[in-house]
Amino acid sequence: MAPNYFQARLTLLSLLLPTTLVAQEFEPGYIDPAPILAAASAAIGEDRLSCISIAGTAYSGMVGQQRLNGYEVDWPRGEPLRNYSRVIDWDNVRMIETFDRDPGNNPASWKYGLGWYGGTPLQQQERQIFSLNGEFAWHQDGQNADPIAVSSVDAERWQLDMWLTPHGFLKAARLPGANPRASWRWELGEMGRDGATVNPEKMTIVSITLMNRFRVDATINSQNLLQRIHTWVPDPVIGDTNYEHEFANADYIDIGDGIRFPTNWHHHTGWDDNYQAQSINAGHNAFGGRQADIVANQCPGDVSVPMSVRNTSFAEIVEVETLGDGIYLYGGGSHNSVVVEFEDYIAVVEAPLHEKRNLAVIDAIVEHIPNKPIRFLINTHQHHDHIGGLRTYMHIGATIITHWKNYDFYTKDVLNYSQRTLDPDMVSLWPPTELAEGYQYEVVRENYVLTDGERIMQMSYVHPLGHVEGMLVAYLPEQKILIEADLLDAPNSILPSEATAANRTLYNHVQRLGIDVETIVPIHGRPTPWKDFIQIIN
Ligand SMILES: [Zn+2]
Ligand SMILES: [Zn+2]
Repeated sequence: MAPNYFQARLTLLSLLLPTTLVAQEFEPGYIDPAPILAAASAAIGEDRLSCISIAGTAYSGMVGQQRLNGYEVDWPRGEPLRNYSRVIDWDNVRMIETFDRDPGNNPASWKYGLGWYGGTPLQQQERQIFSLNGEFAWHQDGQNADPIAVSSVDAERWQLDMWLTPHGFLKAARLPGANPRASWRWELGEMGRDGATVNPEKMTIVSITLMNRFRVDATINSQNLLQRIHTWVPDPVIGDTNYEHEFANADYIDIGDGIRFPTNWHHHTGWDDNYQAQSINAGHNAFGGRQADIVANQCPGDVSVPMSVRNTSFAEIVEVETLGDGIYLYGGGSHNSVVVEFEDYIAVVEAPLHEKRNLAVIDAIVEHIPNKPIRFLINTHQHHDHIGGLRTYMHIGATIITHWKNYDFYTKDVLNYSQRTLDPDMVSLWPPTELAEGYQYEVVRENYVLTDGERIMQMSYVHPLGHVEGMLVAYLPEQKILIEADLLDAPNSILPSEATAANRTLYNHVQRLGIDVETIVPIHGRPTPWKDFIQIIN
């Protein structure tokens, strides 16, 4: 076999030699992006479309809110987004997105996918409006509600949503600094999008740079249709995160004047169909639905940036409040941390949201209690809005006390050495050697106690699941204080009008332990007397 093969190959080479000596314009593996982009543009009438309006129904996935420690295939499905619409103006970088959603279950500014930065209050009204104009973005909870600015991280991501459309991508490829590059591959049947494919299909992939920092790529098929537009977005919990929109061939419809636009807009945050193959944190479907009502060249109305949005400061506010001798509530935001002073060290309950929040809290602790190490960070549970600062506490040398069920997820996906290129945090910039050496955790099964002989803090595992698997609460017997997350929220001291399943779990847990609680200190909201809490339990 071998000699024949060689001979055949040599003959072929010598025959082809004169024509293959043309100077290579592109590096091996790369091809010219210009004709690919031109053909894709012609296939969907890109040059004839400057704005688009789409409407229909959609769903959203609750990214980072799994019930079972990441060992689930998908993000939990949130309420349907009814009367959904989105209007995009690519030339002027403007977008308005609206939908109806049941109030009471989502942070008001939480569109879908990521976006816990603002940590805004719970949604109050049914109608939700999200607006983007260049680098500014804001949210309105109700038709005539005051605009609330969202952080630049969210504004950037919303802008990506605008460009991660077929026409948007082709327009973005012409922007200064886009620097398109192209390659090709045989794609073997993406099962979810166009059904199981028997034969591999030759695809081209064009990659561009957007907003000076996002590398975005589009997979373009033999019909010159964009099938997948993919990028990475920063996330405080899992770092650079897969973020992609997908469109099936059959979804592209003719909307007149040779313009074709997809009626389905399917979005993944995280790896599609991951099954814990790439990460423990397995979820993907974060947005999708059918938006068949499409109007070409209908631009958004007034999207001028409100002065209040322009002037919003995202400085972290840390308010320190004494709860007892050496026990302090560090509030001022949507999530509290609780600081407990022991003789030789400090323990902190909860590292929520993102690094900026935790660095502000840590700076305040150091100012308040100098020269005492923060030795332990107690983590209540694995929901992403409660763990965005785990790496920050790792950075300052604290050991994380968490339930054992969170161990795999944290070890593989969160407290790791993976490079974070989009929003490098302290661990990414200055990776500590302890991360490799391996003393990051005290892993709790049922109970764990911190004490210096005088002060005692008891951590216990909350069972059965009231909110999430792997939940701990912390109890200070001397002060009769119970610190908990998400089992009772008391924003502005307002308790739920009737007990939720999570509230009952908290109540039952305290009964089972037989502990004497006078004050509940929630991670969300104000300290609450036990006697007020039991009023809602009946
Ligand atoms: Zn939670
Ligand atoms: Zn929470």
